[in-house]
Amino acid sequence: MTDKTPPLHSCDDFDPNSLRVDEARARILDTLNTVKGVEQLAVRQCLGRVLAEDIHSTIDVPSHTNSAMDGYALRGSDIPTEGTASLRMIGRALAGVPFTGRVEAGQCVRIMTGAMMPQGADTVIMQEDVSVEGERIAIGAGHKPGQNVRQAGEDLATGDCVFSAGKFITPADLGMLASMGIAEVRVWRRVRVAFFSTGDELRSVGQPLGDGQIYDSNRYTLHGMLTRLGVELLDMGVIADRRDEIEAAFQDASQIADVLITSGGVSVGEADYVKETLEKIGEVNFWKIAMKPGRPLAVGRIGHCHFFGLPGNPVSAMVTFYQFVQPALQKMSGREVSPPLLLKARTTSRLKKTPGRIDYQRGWLETDEQGELVVHSTGQQGSGMLSSMGKANCFIVLPLESKAIEAGNLVTVQPFAGLI
Ligand code: AMP
Ligand code: MG
Repeated sequence: MTDKTPPLHSCDDFDPNSLRVDEARARILDTLNTVKGVEQLAVRQCLGRVLAEDIHSTIDVPSHTNSAMDGYALRGSDIPTEGTASLRMIGRALAGVPFTGRVEAGQCVRIMTGAMMPQGADTVIMQEDVSVEGERIAIGAGHKPGQNVRQAGEDLATGDCVFSAGKFITPADLGMLASMGIAEVRVWRRVRVAFFSTGDELRSVGQPLGDGQIYDSNRYTLHGMLTRLGVELLDMGVIADRRDEIEAAFQDASQIADVLITSGGVSVGEADYVKETLEKIGEVNFWKIAMKPGRPLAVGRIGHCHFFGLPGNPVSAMVTFYQFVQPALQKMSGREVSPPLLLKARTTSRLKKTPGRIDYQRGWLETDEQGELVVHSTGQQGSGMLSSMGKANCFIVLPLESKAIEAGNLVTVQPFAGLI
């Protein structure tokens, strides 16, 4: 036996048939395209939607050269190189009420933030740096010609490409569109997503629980995650583990939705109805993914409807959704899909880990008193313990080959901010 031979009683979790997370994500994204169809909407209706056209500025923003300060507008050449200079105040310029005359050498105009720069003036001295004596002001040396002035078109110039198609519209973008006087834009239509839970043990909220039964929580987490993504939701309820019901539900969903998401019933031995049905009416792959939690994932399609079968365990369903389904829906929504945002933080807890799968442990990320990022484990990490997600604000992402990590080491974290 050489050093390279794996030990007979390996306690790791490597499985040669399992797929790496990044590979699975890339394969999924490869099979998807943006949904067909655009809508023209009023700007205020576009928050969280995705632009289907490039936007070019129709005007200069700001449209006129204006003051960035409350103060005095004057000619830069009147700033003394030493000592003080005395200038005569010849009028006032307010935002929306321009001064109509011209500033000559030795003169100045009282000016407010946003007011149009008077002709002749190119510089603003802030009021705190000026002493006023009746109709005259005195300014000292040390000011720069051209200071405190916002040039016309410095934010956007006419014809600039402001946004490209694929831009996810944020509150700042609503403001930008309004600042260009744009009232309506074209956005991609929303992706229609149907979802249901499978499992004979599942009851819906409002029904009494019998022996061995549990409430269906996955439809609620899915409702939340999908709502955040701005897709159209079609909640199909709970479907029992029965061949005819499952087939009918798949058929219905494929008629009305772009995507169908189910949870449960994808573990080995249990997937039979789902697998059988999908093979009959569509196509499906059951992938074992080298990740924890959330190893099984079913991916396929029924006609034009894409299918994702998430694992039933509540944390597995969420982790799998965020790593695979969310980027897929973003791409279908017409959005640029960026790779996950990852940071380094020092773990304050010892983190258990077996090599062989990438771990998405739940953590609380914060800045400590020294200004360093630290992460605390939320404690027990069972894939059925939804409370671990509720207590967390990040995933602690431990690479495939990693073993347990001692407290004090740097680890990679994926913050929920921006993800969820
Ligand atoms: P399955 O993937 O169907 O084998 O389910 C794995 C575990 O997750 C089982 O303990 C199920 O009872 C549980 N489970 C499945 N679906 C749900 C659901 N919708 N809500 C809560 N727990 C679920
Ligand atoms: Mg089940």
